[in-house]
Amino acid sequence: MAKVTIQSSGYAFEVKPRQTVLEAAIESGINLPYGCRTGACGSCKGKVISGKVMHDDYQGTAMTDEELAGGNALFCCARPLEDLMIDVREPAGTGVKPRILPARVSKKEMLAPDVISLHLQLPSSEHLQFLPGQYIEFILKNGKRCAFSIANAPYSDCGLELHLRLVKGGEFTEYVFNELQEKAIMRIEAPFGSFHLRGESNKPIIFAATGTGFAPIKGIIEDMLYNDVQRPMTLYWGGRKPEDLYMDDLCKRWAEHVPTFTYVPVLSKLDADWGGRTGYVQQAIAADMPDLSGYEAYVCGLPNMVDDAQKVFAAHGLPQEAFFSDAFTFAARK
Ligand SMILES: Cc1cc2nc3c(=O)[nH]c(=O)nc-3n(C[C@H](O)[C@H](O)[C@H](O)COP(=O)(O)OP(=O)(O)OC[C@H]3O[C@@H](n4cnc5c(N)ncnc54)[C@H](O)[C@@H]3O)c2cc1C
Repeated sequence: MAKVTIQSSGYAFEVKPRQTVLEAAIESGINLPYGCRTGACGSCKGKVISGKVMHDDYQGTAMTDEELAGGNALFCCARPLEDLMIDVREPAGTGVKPRILPARVSKKEMLAPDVISLHLQLPSSEHLQFLPGQYIEFILKNGKRCAFSIANAPYSDCGLELHLRLVKGGEFTEYVFNELQEKAIMRIEAPFGSFHLRGESNKPIIFAATGTGFAPIKGIIEDMLYNDVQRPMTLYWGGRKPEDLYMDDLCKRWAEHVPTFTYVPVLSKLDADWGGRTGYVQQAIAADMPDLSGYEAYVCGLPNMVDDAQKVFAAHGLPQEAFFSDAFTFAARK
């Protein structure tokens, strides 16, 4: 076993043979920043201060060769070869350990032609603790895992709400759209992820979502409203066509009733009947707020949008440590 110590917080944990640094941290209840767990999004990137690691396959967009040569590692794919001292973007604290649970599909509902909401009910003896914005993984019979963000806040007793976009040719999403019936029992593991509100800050918040990237943001906003958090927040929700903003009415209701909440829907495809903003969400935000130095940004959706938003926002003064994201990368094949 190798011992890993996080320099900034002093937290330490053991990594069993064949575990990655991130797997061991999650098992030990230590919160490292991460997203996809499959070497695709780069959220778990950090520094190896001392010791050596060996990497499994990962995507070059998640970590460049220069970053690797500069002593960085992707902790979701890095296996220690000896004891390590590492550093991560945020000082890690302790978190909830994910558990494997059965979940019953209590409701399946079309939200748009290519978006379905699933409501999952857990056994009555189980109470799943999670932070708004975190995600679950479905464990398929062939071992493949598919990640979906939790779209509700944890206080409600209605189980878990998910918003699934159909991926053409996608093994799991095609099954959900075409075959899955209400009352089916699924196997899930939860909670995962570090996309959640940093409650210690009072900065105004920008939420940027494309498509079903709205799901975790909905969970965070619902939780903020429930807890009467008074931080000003603006949601930019982007889609190609009006149907992509499948809960537009809910956002408009929040904007009407909550003085701290502003909603800006944005369409990227020209639509003759659309009187609102057009273009990409990240560009709309930069145009409206040329100086982002005093904000926190929470960004969720397709990897290209998340990448581009990070660059655009940094160019407009957003500090790196004020950018939080979940990129909806594809499921890893196991
Ligand atoms: C943290 C996280 C949270 C997520 N939350 C949500 C959510 O709330 N809602 C939501 O709709 N989605 C979400 N996603 C995305 C979702 O997990 C995937 O869309 C889903 O797993 C697709 O599964 P599938 O079996 O239908 O598709 P797959 O069968 O895995 O793939 C579908 C198609 O994509 C192609 N493909 C597979 N991998 C790649 C690749 N790396 N590059 C290019 N093409 C590829 C395949 O060839 C196939 O044609 C999330 C992803 C992550 C990482």
